[in-house]
Amino acid sequence: MQADDDAPTAPETFLAHGGGFRDAANGAVVPPIELSSTYARGADYALVDPGVHYSRDENPTYLHAERVLARLEGGARALLFSSGMAGAAAIFHTLRSGDHVVASLLMYHGLRSWLKGFVERYGLGLTLFDPRTDGSLAAALRPGRTRLVWIETPSNPTWELTDIAAAAELAHGAGALLACDSTVSTPLVTRPFEHGADLVFHSATKFLNGHSDVVAGAVVGRVEDEAWTRIRTERARGGAILGPFEAWLLHRGLRTLHVRMARAMENAARLAERFDGHAAVERVLWPGLSSHPGHAIAKKQMCGFGAMLSLLLADDPEGARARRVASTTRCFLPATSLGGVESLIEHRATVEGPDSPTPKNLLRLSVGIEDADDLIRDLERALEA
Ligand SMILES: *Cc1c(COP(=O)(O)O)cnc(C)c1O
Repeated sequence: MQADDDAPTAPETFLAHGGGFRDAANGAVVPPIELSSTYARGADYALVDPGVHYSRDENPTYLHAERVLARLEGGARALLFSSGMAGAAAIFHTLRSGDHVVASLLMYHGLRSWLKGFVERYGLGLTLFDPRTDGSLAAALRPGRTRLVWIETPSNPTWELTDIAAAAELAHGAGALLACDSTVSTPLVTRPFEHGADLVFHSATKFLNGHSDVVAGAVVGRVEDEAWTRIRTERARGGAILGPFEAWLLHRGLRTLHVRMARAMENAARLAERFDGHAAVERVLWPGLSSHPGHAIAKKQMCGFGAMLSLLLADDPEGARARRVASTTRCFLPATSLGGVESLIEHRATVEGPDSPTPKNLLRLSVGIEDADDLIRDLERALEA
């Protein structure tokens, strides 16, 4: 397999070329799916390719997709995992009992509840901070004891922004690393390393793959330091690897990321514009609207405003209308997840369960790449039904 160091610089070209793959042996322009779990040694008992010996550690198909992702983020290395949750868990498993973690109150529901249980079982400290409140992160840090600060921006499901540069400065000042869940943004919209983050996390299930047919996670490191080695070792020993076929699908999905994101963001802008001020809608939550509390930070650190938006319905305190709308749309599929080419609608409070802090009148929309007018008509019809 050929390295991609000589690939063109613009991310769009680099992606379209799949990271510049060309098989040295036969000229194939698409990488093969390497199913082999093990790699035989040569006559002198040396590895034929020193980079691969057993697929729980490395496999050429993961390595190729990882190189594309690392380069896209501007990081040193990337690691793929069997799910987003497995990637996040690998990061937290590198901490030791007694260590302190600071995490945003506004984050993916599944990870927040896993993290609460994890710190309890393993004797770590956890303080949640509210990115909407000035001074909240600074007050949550325990200088010298806090090892990791976890942020998500824009965050589920109200798309609040966290100022990455400010968070990095505070985290570093306390001796902690900053990890940024950038699932909703993608590296084409936010590049957290440029703002000082140390680790970037993705549920690659979402926009990176983009076709709702792979569950995968990715962790990208700005540098290959000792903290990075611990995460690498955690994957190799813990074994939460992505299968070669899934890594290959993810690589294929990445080749159109720029086109998918551009179209989905365009559609999201059209929807935000149409439903902002609609009689049945109390509020549209999308960072591109100047009324959104994160708008100023979004303009500073994002290139575009993402393709996720939420609607708060008017006069719907118990969410009955929201659930009805989510079961009436036809173009928007009533399914969980996000970032696929098809649009999804979700009543998050139902999915998150009784301890969910999500407003009951909130509908989360993952905007796909369909015709914008079809999407608008579909929602109008469901809201008026
Ligand atoms: C989906 C998601 C996760 C979890 O990833 P999985 O691939 O479902 O394990 C974490 N963070 C965010 C923001 C997500 O959307």
